[in-house]
Amino acid sequence: MQPELPTYDDVVRASERLAGNAHRTPVLTSATADAISGASVFFKCENFQRMGAFKFRGGYNAIARLTPEQRAAGVVTFSSGNHAQAIALASKLQGVQATIIMPLDAPAAKRAATEGYGGKIVTYDRYTEDREAIARRIQAETGATLIPPYDHEDVIAGQGTAAKELFEEVGELDYLFVCLGGGGLLSGSALSAFALSPRCLVYGVEPEAGNDGQQSLRKGEIVRIPAPKTLADGAATTHLGNLTFPLIQKHVRDIVTVTDEQLVSTMRFFAERMKMVVEPTGCLGAAAVMQNVVPVRGARVGVIISGGNVDLPNYAKLLAA
Ligand SMILES: *Cc1c(COP(=O)(O)O)cnc(C)c1O
Repeated sequence: MQPELPTYDDVVRASERLAGNAHRTPVLTSATADAISGASVFFKCENFQRMGAFKFRGGYNAIARLTPEQRAAGVVTFSSGNHAQAIALASKLQGVQATIIMPLDAPAAKRAATEGYGGKIVTYDRYTEDREAIARRIQAETGATLIPPYDHEDVIAGQGTAAKELFEEVGELDYLFVCLGGGGLLSGSALSAFALSPRCLVYGVEPEAGNDGQQSLRKGEIVRIPAPKTLADGAATTHLGNLTFPLIQKHVRDIVTVTDEQLVSTMRFFAERMKMVVEPTGCLGAAAVMQNVVPVRGARVGVIISGGNVDLPNYAKLLAA
């Protein structure tokens, strides 16, 4: 059966729900980034979004769409971090109880923030346990609505609003580079690109250790990989989704990969030159441009910086090394 895919209209409706609730994040430029890439680069800075990542957009939109009965029963989700914080904060703002299933090795700062927003945390071992099965069990026990991190119509539509704002602000672009985990951000961004800048080439960027998306695009079917070990914890997903994959197939030019080393150089660039804290996963798109993974000389290039939530001691260690 062909799943019902979200459209750009859904992105527009999500942006109406988010108005006044999510930040309209800044688009920043850097003469150094332009000099290094030979292009005009526009960074859409979702590291400045509420709770520190774009995931607030999808989470808020999904919760805003619940019926009164669903709101009363609460929501449940699984996440390596930012989606957890997004659901915890978006739930709190909309008066809904959230249960979050989180890996044991999730960064301490992400866990603390999720608890700070009032989310109830259940932990699991991401190398041996299936988070989706745990979520289904809690759902069956409590009647809570499952809001997955990426493979959900309202989540995808919400994530697409960041790129929508970018195109509205800077006009058409030749390229758009998007960090890729399960593909919620990439597929939503691709919907906005296709509607607002139809000739724009949209690229997904994955960590080299977790290139399931690239393999999937090459093979024409969703490829599953074991949980990858990468600094890009927000993109340590094992497979694309049933909604995100067809959207990516339809609207995304290609998926490229970058190494953890390239992520660290890019993190250092953001700290040193642009005075921004960007988490490793948030550097994926920028790394592809700054490290010349895709040559973009002379082009107008959009990059979504997806988040800025770091564990400070870890962050300092990576930058100092
Ligand atoms: C979740 C996340 C991603 C990946 O998003 P998907 O929608 O799963 O592809 C990228 N960057 C950050 C900071 C994230 O939190």
